[in-house]
Amino acid sequence: MKISALGSMQNKKAFRVNRCLTQALSFTILCSLSSIVSAQAKNEDVAQIVESNKAAFAECLVDKKIEAVNAGVSQGRADKEFQQLTFIPRVIELDRSQPEFVSTFPSYFSKRVNTWRIDTGRAKYAEHREFLQSLTQKYGIPGHYLISFWGLETNYGGYKGKMSTLDSLATLACDKRRSKFFTNELFLALKLMDSEGLERETMQGSWAGAMGHTQFMPSTYTNYAIDGDGDSKIDLWESEKDALASAAHFLWKLGWNPGLRWGREVTLPADFDYQLANKGNKSISEWKALNIKQANGKPLATSDIPARLRVPAGHEGPAFLSYANFNIIMRWNNSEFYAIAVGQLANQIAGGAGLVATLPDLPSFKISDIALLQEKLNQLGYEIGAADGIMGPGTREGIRQFQADNRLVADGFPSPTTILAVMQKSQKEI
Ligand code: CA
Repeated sequence: MKISALGSMQNKKAFRVNRCLTQALSFTILCSLSSIVSAQAKNEDVAQIVESNKAAFAECLVDKKIEAVNAGVSQGRADKEFQQLTFIPRVIELDRSQPEFVSTFPSYFSKRVNTWRIDTGRAKYAEHREFLQSLTQKYGIPGHYLISFWGLETNYGGYKGKMSTLDSLATLACDKRRSKFFTNELFLALKLMDSEGLERETMQGSWAGAMGHTQFMPSTYTNYAIDGDGDSKIDLWESEKDALASAAHFLWKLGWNPGLRWGREVTLPADFDYQLANKGNKSISEWKALNIKQANGKPLATSDIPARLRVPAGHEGPAFLSYANFNIIMRWNNSEFYAIAVGQLANQIAGGAGLVATLPDLPSFKISDIALLQEKLNQLGYEIGAADGIMGPGTREGIRQFQADNRLVADGFPSPTTILAVMQKSQKEI
């Protein structure tokens, strides 16, 4: 079931908008005319940016080349590469594209931690077992985590991206939105060609410049990648050992705690106060005192290790306690869903069980649905700030308060039940 609601916040359309959203909870209704119109306007804006960037590209490169040599790129490398750099319109389109839907944990997780990834991960783990053990001894990162990152980033090297890294970075360096950041990344990529003997043709990756088995940006490559196979060069495209060693070295530098797992799935008692979820840390012992158990039913350890309780799909979905290494995973990719996927896939690669909780069948939320929910909560006096469609801490807290005031489970999660209740309440208030 998909919620298909109008994103317009104009007052005169408010009633129709409400009907669209509330009805769409039980029927699929197309009522997105104004969002189609605004999407067309957005496309025209992007087309204009593409055209003007394209027209200015050659001139931009003249300046960037001088800047590159001043920043330490060799004159020979600059002479050779700058004349080949090519503008890629698609990179700007992807940079400006905005997701229409909010990803939900069940759909994110089930796409990533699947049978293929677990089985292939186990095979890769077995294949590299001795090498992984040597990395664990040196850097403290267990091998099943390294395999898990690798699997989630590129399907164990199966898909490393097909965009020319140099052309993508040059396109973004000559675009005003994040020019400084991508200019630096472009210069570092050029320097890597000299230091590691990399060729333009092999340097392919994501549209935003992430490269190789572990999708490192040039700055991460420069600062953290190491030689793992002993040929004195670092090649994150062709050498699996270089990629695994680099991942271990990176996580070690980020401060991975060798003795600690990422966290674990847990079960909560029936009367649990969900206002404690997705908030600050408590010690594992404190969580234990609240009758939280391991997902397999065993008691939690008695420990003063700090842990945070996460319910990424609301009270009807799985619950997790996350420990300090969870924050290290989020330094690699700042996403709670990603970090849970890394941890859980790692568990299963090492032979552990899958999730005990069933993933709830949640509708796909549109960004505009969340914005509408925010606007209605504001109208009802919950003061959650701008209706921007982003589920931040303020929105979560507003939802929590609304739920508490309306005898719903106060998990701060925009479940269909909660959205419907907000819409009904706001209509009554009018
Ligand atoms: Ca190497």
